[in-house]
Amino acid sequence: MAGTVYDVVCGMSTELGNWSESVEYEGKTYYFCCDGCSGAFKKSPEYHLQNWAEEHPGVDPTPAVA
Ligand SMILES: [Zn+2]
Repeated sequence: MAGTVYDVVCGMSTELGNWSESVEYEGKTYYFCCDGCSGAFKKSPEYHLQNWAEEHPGVDPTPAVA
């Protein structure tokens, strides 16, 4: 659903706008529940994105808005 964002580190989801932590990576904006999760993503984005893709096939963690 448009407007839903997923934290690829801990797996939580929320409506776009509820989380203030975000990280730009390869042209996309990823959102996180806390600075602990965004910090972990910044250290190893490929690791967390690969984990997300394996555990949630077909689920885009970024909101479907430009
Ligand atoms: Zn989190």
